[in-house]
Amino acid sequence: MSTTPTQTPNPTLAWVFDGDSVLCQEGVPHAITVDDLSCHDDVFTLSGHYLLTFTQIQSLGMALVGEFVPYRQLVATLTADMTCQFSTAIQLLTWQHTHRFCGVCGTPTQIANSEYAKVCPNCRHHSYPKIQPCVIVAITRKNPNTQKQQILLAKHHRHAHANMYGLIAGYVEVGESLENAVHREVLEETGLHIKNLHYLESQAWPYPTNLMLGFVAEYESGVLAPQADELADVQFFDLDNLPHIPNIGTIARRLIDLVCLQH
Ligand SMILES: [Zn+2]
Repeated sequence: MSTTPTQTPNPTLAWVFDGDSVLCQEGVPHAITVDDLSCHDDVFTLSGHYLLTFTQIQSLGMALVGEFVPYRQLVATLTADMTCQFSTAIQLLTWQHTHRFCGVCGTPTQIANSEYAKVCPNCRHHSYPKIQPCVIVAITRKNPNTQKQQILLAKHHRHAHANMYGLIAGYVEVGESLENAVHREVLEETGLHIKNLHYLESQAWPYPTNLMLGFVAEYESGVLAPQADELADVQFFDLDNLPHIPNIGTIARRLIDLVCLQH
C-alpha cells in the first residue's frame, strides 16, 4: 500500500527525484501528472503529491521533460515550506531504498499504514526513518591586532575546488551530548578550545539524513592547527572581509549572517 500519514485520496501530481536532485523545468521544481498509483505498495505520498524516483518513472515507462537540480542548489530559491517538503521527500526515498529488508530477520519490509514506518510482515519489527544529528558552530573572537570582530571559517577538502569556506561541523557520536560533540569537533579539527557555547537553531539537511544543530561560541584558547585529513585551511576572518561562503538557504550561511548582524 502507498498509505502514509499525509496521504490524500487520489493524488494525480508527483514530484520526481534522482538521489538528492528534484525534477525541474527552467530551474523551478516541476510536478508531473500521473495516474492513480494507489495500487503500488512502494510509493510514498507527501502533501498530496506522490514521491517518485527516476527509477520508478523508468519502470512505469514514462517520459520526463526537464532537468534534475540538486537540493543544495534549490535551497537558495525555494520557500521554507517547499524546502521542508523536498528535504522530507529526499530522506524518505533514501530510507525506502536502504531499508527494503527487515534488520532482524531479513524479510522484505512493507510501508506502514498510519505513520512513516516500515514493518516486517514476519516478525513485526518496526523501523523508522533514521535521523543523524550533526553539530555546526560559528566561533567568534576579536582580531588581536585591530579588535575587529572575526569568525572562524574552514575550507574543507570537499569544497576546496570551489574555494569555499564554511563552519566547523561534525556528527554527534553515540553516547555524546550535543555540547560535548561541539567541543570535541572544534578541538579535533582546529586545535582550539571554545567558551560561551549556545544553541541557536536547526535545519534538516538531506545529505543524506542530517539534522544540523547550529551553535555559536567564542574562542577561548589554543593555536590553530587544522586537521590535515579534514581541512585544507582554517582562519579567523574579519566580518567585513569574508571569503566565499556557503549559499543562502544553508544553516552555515544563516549562522554566519546572524553573527554579522549581531556585531
Ligand atoms: Zn523481521
